[in-house]
Amino acid sequence: MTSAGEVLAELRRRGYRLTPQRALIVEEIFANVERHISLRELHSRINEKLPGVSISTVHQTLKLLEELGFIKLFEIDGRLHVDKPHIHANIVCRDTGEIIDADGEITVLVEKLESRGIRPVNILIEANCSGSRGEPPETGKG
Ligand SMILES: [Zn+2]
Repeated sequence: MTSAGEVLAELRRRGYRLTPQRALIVEEIFANVERHISLRELHSRINEKLPGVSISTVHQTLKLLEELGFIKLFEIDGRLHVDKPHIHANIVCRDTGEIIDADGEITVLVEKLESRGIRPVNILIEANCSGSRGEPPETGKG
């Protein structure tokens, strides 16, 4: 897995100006990529630490990192989420909104498809997962 430090070094090598703002955005992206953070949540986390960063600045940085192959972006219900760049399936829970990676047999399927010249770009499995975890769903106000 690529680290924020490696990405910042690569950006510097490519001649991108590394403002403290951009460094913070990159760090927050990589601290939260495992849980497929959304653009909106990323933006609000960044603003807690550095108020005044616009959502379009965060979006532009995400697009840049996707172009450079460090991350992958995908949409669920019109919301943009950050993901690791390697092809894998994501399971989204329709009850909690949690997104987790599915590896194992899915990887075998992807390899089979690729051997036939089919390259999947996004695999999303929608699921109902509450009840299987033994945790009550969040009720909002607490
Ligand atoms: Zn994923």
